Formats: sequence, structure tokens, C-alpha cells
Amino acid sequence: MTVTATTVQGGLATLTDEIISELRDRVGCPVLAPEDPGFDAIREVYNAMHPGEPALVVSCSGTADVIDAVRFARDNGLVVSVRGGGHSIAGLSASDNALLIDLAPMHAVQVDRAARVARVQGGAVWGDVDRETQAFGLATPGGVVSDTGVAGLTLGGGYGWLRRQHGLACDHLVSAEVVGADGRVRTASENENADLLWALRGGGGNFGVVTWFTFALEEIGPTVAFVGTFYPVAEAAQVIRGWRDYVNVAPNEVTATCLTITLPADPELPEAVHDQACVVIGGVYAGDAERGMDILQPLRELGTPLMDMSQPMPFTAVQSGFDAFFPRNTMQAYWKSRYLSELSDAAVDFVAAKAAERPSPMTLVNVFHMGGAIADVPVGATAFAQRSSPFLLSIDGNWTDPADNDRNIAWVRDTFAESARFGNDGVYLNFTGSAEEPAESGVDSAFGANLRRLAEVKAKYDPTNVFRANNNITPASG
Ligand SMILES: Cc1cc2nc3c(=O)[nH]c(=O)nc-3n(C[C@H](O)[C@H](O)[C@H](O)COP(=O)(O)OP(=O)(O)OC[C@H]3O[C@@H](n4cnc5c(N)ncnc54)[C@H](O)[C@@H]3O)c2cc1C
Repeated sequence: MTVTATTVQGGLATLTDEIISELRDRVGCPVLAPEDPGFDAIREVYNAMHPGEPALVVSCSGTADVIDAVRFARDNGLVVSVRGGGHSIAGLSASDNALLIDLAPMHAVQVDRAARVARVQGGAVWGDVDRETQAFGLATPGGVVSDTGVAGLTLGGGYGWLRRQHGLACDHLVSAEVVGADGRVRTASENENADLLWALRGGGGNFGVVTWFTFALEEIGPTVAFVGTFYPVAEAAQVIRGWRDYVNVAPNEVTATCLTITLPADPELPEAVHDQACVVIGGVYAGDAERGMDILQPLRELGTPLMDMSQPMPFTAVQSGFDAFFPRNTMQAYWKSRYLSELSDAAVDFVAAKAAERPSPMTLVNVFHMGGAIADVPVGATAFAQRSSPFLLSIDGNWTDPADNDRNIAWVRDTFAESARFGNDGVYLNFTGSAEEPAESGVDSAFGANLRRLAEVKAKYDPTNVFRANNNITPASG
């Protein structure tokens, strides 16, 4: 059997049986080719629109396998793609004809209580981290869906329920073990390769394969105050205005998001929300749970709720509370986002109107409240540059039938274009589009003043751009 793989020069290489056997001999883990049993299952990612047709999948068991896979790719001039949790909306971890370095088996989490840090392997998902850290009443800021990968989310910034009190996931990254394009392992920390640590804090997967992350931990929970109040979409403008006025003066312990969704007629849900378009106010208070419920109470009184799930909840339950809406390998997904300098009345009316006209029940129009600890970090202190906007608008197209792709993609694109009058130029790269649209990926505007330094760090650690299946930064020349 032979396999065709993309080369870094842009051509195609034929990998013979002999070459593939050489890779199998080098690594200590399974290597799957398209004809092997299990190949289709191992390709599964969140976005069913981008299943990807990798040339080979190296299903890594540990750092040694990653080193061998990178060296094999280097020796054969192959393009690699790296997969952590497989949640890239743009399909960045599912490139056709690439050598896929799959980190899913590498999901260990070790908590060091004395040092208040967690060591997390490169293929872990947030559910793995929350489970281990919450055993000790600790947490690090992660995402809001438990099977999103730690790697992609952290490397791209990382917004979750703790963002206003404790900042971004990348802000808690204190060190990392990285396999570089040269196949060498480096530590990135404040004391060693500090430029690499700076770049990993928001610069994406451009600088190598992160095999271990070390995160600082905060005391959280184990019970936190949670608000999840579902209002009818007919009340959207009133509810979103009330939410905006509340969050504009809320303390940093409060992180709240407003989203629109149409829930299915699930017998486990109250009939009042069956097939109803809802505006949902979700919020967490990162502090005493009882006090938090009092502080969050106004968010439950913004209209006439159809359903109210608000209550003190285990933090792990909050962190997996939205999982059912995001099943892997089922949704066709196309998302776009932009930061807003303010949420004016006109912007609220726009969001409310778009919430009502969504073309698919699982399509979300979200507004995230930012600020707090995110904005406390100077723009140049980490690669992540988008810190000053108080709101982020995210238009998340999710639908199931591929026949509806064109209609849904067009709606997201049009809505995104129309929203330009309310936003600034910045986009959140973890919530963007499609790998086929590099010109629109927004790398320049997302990194802003940090782009030049990022290009220099890229040139130092990956001069030939081996790691290009990402929101790619062109290595600085000369
Ligand atoms: C259902 C869903 C919920 C989400 N919720 C949130 C949220 O709450 N907050 C938020 O900020 N974002 C969220 N996102 C967006 C998410 O942050 C990005 O999709 C992110 O890229 C996912 O990371 P991953 O490891 O799962 O992705 P992957 O698809 O595995 O990888 C994404 C990118 O990271 C690179 N990469 C992956 N692992 C490594 C590694 N170990 N070393 C180097 N590079 C690597 C890949 O090559 C690729 O370029 C969500 C996405 C989905 C689909």
C-alpha cells in the first residue's frame, strides 16, 4: 500500500510500505493508514464539515512518540497537523494529506497541591483538568464545554466562566514542554526560552507540539453560584439591554454571557422550552456560592423566564452543562466573531433581530462580557492582543444536514459583515471560519501590535513553517 502526503514544498510525496514501516518501527504507538481498521473513527472531530483525510495518523502515547513523528516528518519533508481536542471550527487539526500527530491518548493531569499547579498533557480536554483539580477545590480558567481540547483553546487565548475574575487560559500557563520543528524538546518558562512561553500564550499552534502544559491553579468551588435563565426570543431586546446594564457595573467575580438557541423537544426539558427560540443568560460567580446567588439574582428577572436552571452547582457540572448541545462529529459548523467597543442600543437591537432569524435551531448568536482580569494584563505581556474590548459577538453556525451548508454559511457571513458597524477590527481566532479562507482568518488584526514579535519567534523556532496547519504566522525574514 502507498499513501500520498503533502510536502512542505507544496508538492505531494508517495509514502511506500517501506517508508511507513520505518515510521512504525520508530514510534512506540499505533500508526494508522487509510486502509487500517479504526482509521475512520480516529479521524472524528467536532466539525463534521471538516473530517479531513490525513495521510497517516500517529496516535501518540507520549512525548517520545511526538519527537519521533516530528523527526519522521522532517526527514521526509512532510506537512504535519497536530490535534489536541479536535474542536477547531476551521478544521485546522484535520488537514488533508498531512501526517496527523494525534495527541488524544495523552490526556494525563497531575495536580501539585503544594505548588498550586497542574501539569496537563497535550491531548487532554477540559473535563480531564476539571475532574482532577476540583478534587482539591482548585481550577484553572478553561472553556465552557468539557470535551474542548486544552491545547487549542489555551494556545489561542481561552475564554471560560472564570475569565473576568482570573483571566484567560493562556494567562495561567506558567510553563510548557514543546517538541520543536527540529525534533528537539524545549521547556518554555519565565527562566528558559521565555520568548517561546510569551508566544504560546495566545500565538496558537505555530511554535511546535506542546506535550505538557503547566497551569497555575486558583481556589474555586467545589460549588459555585450559577445562573441559567431562558427567556423567549420575543423578549430578546429587553433582556439583552438589561443584561448589558447589569454586566457593565458587575464585580469581576461575575462572568456572564448571553446566547440564543432553540432547544429540541427533549422530554427531559420542560415543555415550555420545546422547540422555542430562547435568549439564555448564563453566568457564574467565582466566590462564595450563597452570596453569588444574591448578586446574580437580577439576571433571573430580566423578562418572563420559560425555564430557570439557576442554582448553586458543582463547578464540574457548570463546566459540562452545555455539552449536550455540542456533540462531536454531528454538527456542520461555521463560526465568526468580532470584538465590540461597546454594546450600544443599536447593537442590542441588531443582536435581537439576528437571534430571531437564525436559520438553524442550534445556531447561536452570543455576546460575551469581557474586561476584568483579561484587561488587567498589558497587551505586550503575552501574544494574545485582544484585551481591551468589553464585549465579543460570536455568530456560531451549527447545523446537521450538509445539504444546508451554503445557506447557513451565507447567513453567518452576512451577519458577520453587517455587524461590522458595531465592532472593531479584532476577531477571536479560536472562533473563526474556515481554513480555506486564510485571508479572512484575521491573523493580522487579532495579533495587532504583537504580530511582528510573533513572526520573529516563529522564525527562531520554526523557520520553515513546518507547523502551518493553524492560524498561521509567517516567519520573519532576515
Ligand atoms: C463546542 C465548542 C466549544 C468551545 N468552547 C470554547 C470556550 O468556551 N472558550 C474558548 O475560548 N473557545 C472555545 N471553543 C473554541 C476552541 O477554543 C477552539 O476550537 C480550539 O482550537 C480547540 O482546541 P482543540 O485542542 O480542541 O482543537 P484542535 O482542533 O485539536 O486544534 C486546534 C489548533 O490547535 C493546534 N494544536 C492542538 N493541539 C496542539 C498541541 N498540543 N500543540 C500545539 N498545537 C496544537 C492544532 O494544530 C490546531 O491548529 C469551542 C469550540 C467548540 C467546537
